[in-house]
Amino acid sequence: MKRIGAHVSISGGVENAPLNAENIGAKAFAMFTKNQRQWQAKPYSEKNIQEFKANLKRVGIAAEHVLPHDGYLINLGHPEPERLDKSRYAFLDEIQRCEQLGLKLLNFHPGSHLRQIPEEKSLELVAESINWALERTQDVIAVIENTAGQGSNLGYSFEHLASIIDGVEDKSRIGVCLDTCHTFTAGYDLRTHAACDTTFTEFDSIVGFNYLRGMHLNDSKPDLGSHLDRHKSLGQGKIGWDLFSYIMNDERFDEIPMVLETIDSDIWPQEIKQLYALQK
Ligand SMILES: [Zn+2]
Ligand SMILES: [Zn+2]
Repeated sequence: MKRIGAHVSISGGVENAPLNAENIGAKAFAMFTKNQRQWQAKPYSEKNIQEFKANLKRVGIAAEHVLPHDGYLINLGHPEPERLDKSRYAFLDEIQRCEQLGLKLLNFHPGSHLRQIPEEKSLELVAESINWALERTQDVIAVIENTAGQGSNLGYSFEHLASIIDGVEDKSRIGVCLDTCHTFTAGYDLRTHAACDTTFTEFDSIVGFNYLRGMHLNDSKPDLGSHLDRHKSLGQGKIGWDLFSYIMNDERFDEIPMVLETIDSDIWPQEIKQLYALQK
């Protein structure tokens, strides 16, 4: 079964996220664990935690179908030791928040070399950071998101994802999330079924579908290979509907959270319905 949802708000408390997902007809969702633009946030209260769990149960979404996203300030490949340390502790806090909520996944962007160290060195730091955080936690799976490769961001190629996975000791606790906009602007064509076949075959041989733990379903404002990160509503960008019908009819995408991060949240209920209607 396909588990489609969107990245919903936690405004007013993390416990509101499952209700926001239910309101748009979602069978999965993403959310930030806390304000994504700040280093610090107050810990969850017992009330936050209990209500989140109760609401999740009430709306009938499994913990495995929730894909929390970490904050924007974290850089697990940071070239400067002090800043790297700060990122690692913030990442650890994110994983611990997921554990408190009984969640299983944490989606994050790999990091940036900031043009201060070679890409390979920064990728090694990312893997070390993940190992460091996993050693200090129980069972959350760290889910690397591929990027558009804007600026000095790592993670724009399947080889980058594979190299990070290679450096992670506990392979049962590492996975990847493909953002369709990022994949496309990083240079992998997704505009036709044939192009999807080529791209996902390449993904399978370099990374492996066994590591696929989530998808971000977005159309793209910029062109193929532009390395820009600008999402569009489904069918209104440079990718088009063929990709989404491909995904909705391919069982390799079953039972993983697939969430919209499209720009018009008013039409999320409609986009979710349109996606399900693509199933043959
Ligand atoms: Zn992201
Ligand atoms: Zn994304």
